[in-house]
Amino acid sequence: MDKRVFSSDNLVKSLCAFAILGGLFVASRKIFIESRQQFPIYPSAALTRIARLSEYFDGVRGTTADGEVYVFDSGMPGASILILGGTHNDEPSGHVAAIAMIENLHVKKGRIFIVPRANPSGLTHTTPLEGFFDRYYVDTPNGKRWFKFGSRYTNPIYQWPDPDIFVHHQSLQSMAGEESRNLNRCWPGRPDGTYTEKLAYAYMELMRKEKIDLAADFHEAPLEYFLINAICYPEKSSKVALGAEFNLSMEDLQYTMEASPGNLHGFFHREVGDYSSTTMPFLMETPNPSQGRFHGKMTNDLIVTGQDTNYIKAGKLGRLFVDMDENGWPLSLRVARQIKSAEEIINSFNELYPDRAIEAEGIPPYREIVEKGVGAFLHAPEK
Ligand SMILES: [Zn+2]
Repeated sequence: MDKRVFSSDNLVKSLCAFAILGGLFVASRKIFIESRQQFPIYPSAALTRIARLSEYFDGVRGTTADGEVYVFDSGMPGASILILGGTHNDEPSGHVAAIAMIENLHVKKGRIFIVPRANPSGLTHTTPLEGFFDRYYVDTPNGKRWFKFGSRYTNPIYQWPDPDIFVHHQSLQSMAGEESRNLNRCWPGRPDGTYTEKLAYAYMELMRKEKIDLAADFHEAPLEYFLINAICYPEKSSKVALGAEFNLSMEDLQYTMEASPGNLHGFFHREVGDYSSTTMPFLMETPNPSQGRFHGKMTNDLIVTGQDTNYIKAGKLGRLFVDMDENGWPLSLRVARQIKSAEEIINSFNELYPDRAIEAEGIPPYREIVEKGVGAFLHAPEK
């Protein structure tokens, strides 16, 4: 037998190797556990209740898809609106706008339903090869408030493998295989479908059972993408959309109003229009420099200030679909645009149907969000 195996040298090396492996295990376990945490939400005192999505479709019960629905019910007659943030979790203004509303809202007539984590499993991972952070921080008057940065896709641990080609069930339209895990390609979903199709179906059931009149889905897009700074809507939403456009233009706020193409399937703005008998859908897009192909190093600043030298150059070369200069596209401005568009959709609906108006106080005002920062509307950060 080789006595060197038992030498004190080898024993020290082995102990060092075990110590390093143990350290790596402890560190990776900490990162894994932190990546599973969800950011806190501090609802306003006017919150009626937090429902679970499984109340509307039992097929998501006991899964990560069984997310929270924040219900503000005035108890007074009026219409209802559903707001989705976090369909895509690499689009921060969606969930921050939803949360800023949850933390400040008082509904006086009708009902407002807000889902801040529309695809919760997308918050448990990031998209490979993107170099995304998994969390970021927003300054508030009381300190920093943290949020998750996630993926636009359902986590593959819940839905795998992807097909080579994803065929949208109702239309038979073909898409890339990974889009089978994209909630905004799976509408209207189906009760016996994939994890992501069941998630979409659960929201369709929520809209059907709660007789939702209006629905807004908050998104962001890279600056090189054509549908940006936009509100996209199908035929049935057009009257309300045109009123909202008028109201926004009266305040010098420019939004592109984009009619939803009839043959573009799987999208919220198309399929909720076609498959819901009660709901008028709208999909919002704001410009997100941290999401596109051109941006430089991923930093907290890039997410929050929306400033990036590469995008400024691309803007000067006329390669973008929005203006881009040294001011960037701050998260606060993008959140302000999301909230303002939902507010003006409600106002437009109220002008068309005054006897069914939704009345709410405490919606963070556009100019104040831009001037003070969205942190001024986020409460009770961790110490
Ligand atoms: Zn999106």
